[in-house]
Amino acid sequence: MICRKCASDKPNSEFWFVVTNGVRYMRKSCASCEAARIKKWRTENRSLILEKIKVYNDANACRRRAYSRLWAQSNPERVRQSQRAWKEKNRDEVRMRGRLYQAARRAGDTKPGRTLLHELMELQKGLCVVCVADIRTRSHLDHIVPVSKGGGNERENLQLLCPSCNCRKNAMPMAEFIVRFNHAR
Ligand SMILES: [Zn+2]
Ligand SMILES: [Zn+2]
Repeated sequence: MICRKCASDKPNSEFWFVVTNGVRYMRKSCASCEAARIKKWRTENRSLILEKIKVYNDANACRRRAYSRLWAQSNPERVRQSQRAWKEKNRDEVRMRGRLYQAARRAGDTKPGRTLLHELMELQKGLCVVCVADIRTRSHLDHIVPVSKGGGNERENLQLLCPSCNCRKNAMPMAEFIVRFNHAR
């Protein structure tokens, strides 16, 4: 068959097939021409592709986190391995965290790091800020102004949401999410 693109005569095995409604159609350009065309398109549309990947990743971040938690639960040995490797690579960070932890212990905090969660839980009376579901057994720490929109890790920018609200809010600013939530009701 003659390639429509490069006009060389090539055996059928050097053409790709597309299957539409169960019928196989042979491409009019040879495999190497097709590959070159796709590569060219990818290079020209690099920023568009990266943007699409980013949008997809943002939308699925919450589901991916839930999935990795599940994976971690069934692969404890792999988790320990990667934690060891991380500590090995980030000795300074590990040391600093240790100092912070000790400082908090000395200041009378018996469970450093857990305090914020407890404070928020108490403040919110164990309820999701948006849908008032009971979140005492399962809650997600959420940034009121998302980190991707410039929000920080300070106490005033944190709240607890139920997993479902947190997944739907995702990287949306709080005000926008509340408006959408109320509209949907
Ligand atoms: Zn060709
Ligand atoms: Zn909720």
